[in-house]
Amino acid sequence: MSDDTSATPTPDDTRAAVAPRPEAPEAPGVTGILEVLGANATAPNAAGPASGYVLHTDEGLVLVDAGPGTMAAFTSRYPLDAIRAFVVTHLHADHSLDLMAWAYRWTFPQVLPPLPLLVPEGATASVAAFDALFGIPTLSTMNAPVSQSFVLEAMPMDGTTSIRLPGAELVSFAARHAVPSAALRFRVGDRSYTFSSDTGDCPGLRDAARGADVFVCEATWLDEPAPEDRGHGHLTPAEAGTIAAESGVGTLVLTHLSRPEDGAESVRRARERFDGPIVLAAPGVRVA
Ligand SMILES: [Zn+2]
Repeated sequence: MSDDTSATPTPDDTRAAVAPRPEAPEAPGVTGILEVLGANATAPNAAGPASGYVLHTDEGLVLVDAGPGTMAAFTSRYPLDAIRAFVVTHLHADHSLDLMAWAYRWTFPQVLPPLPLLVPEGATASVAAFDALFGIPTLSTMNAPVSQSFVLEAMPMDGTTSIRLPGAELVSFAARHAVPSAALRFRVGDRSYTFSSDTGDCPGLRDAARGADVFVCEATWLDEPAPEDRGHGHLTPAEAGTIAAESGVGTLVLTHLSRPEDGAESVRRARERFDGPIVLAAPGVRVA
């Protein structure tokens, strides 16, 4: 658990099932646990990777976002064959750059079985651009590593279409960000997990969050941004708390802070709006 997390000793936090970085990770197959690989906005740092999460299902692990550093974090805990699917909320580099690392590993030195990769509708051409940049034509297995590694599927972001993944059902919603961005709502067993993606407040986010057991919400800006940046699409901790309260979620997980040192203050500001359990995302944190 990070210093930031331990610096927020409010009694309510103990209601969430949060554990420090596990000595011996629970084996794949433990259902209904959200695990944080990395939570940094923008870039990895000494405290951990950029954005990435694992959902444990009874059919294996689903990765949500592939920010830089998350593949190393994953492989330090789990074997590659524990993965069943990748879901990427949007293609900004802090959420997607390790797709290229996965694709290289998936095509060299051995070719591994392709896995589903879900991205927002409108983003599939950008995934193909990865291959144009990083494909290796002189190696037969790596001339288009992304398309050779993944079965690409566009998420419709319509708030209704249910996508069946190993061990989970997924519905995607239109978030509000500078690029196509999908808020995600998973059902794993009898639990629901919503990921905001990077987004401003918008109807799709509200629909995705409504009644979720766990709401992983970005809180990029501690304070309101400059007026010229408000159209970009991010939230403050106070906004995350408001949305959590008005959506009736169970546990709020604050993530994607632009400055990790603002963790305690971010939790404090969210708590002014939301009186349920609040967890600060950090590598190794788990929420049931
Ligand atoms: Zn981001």
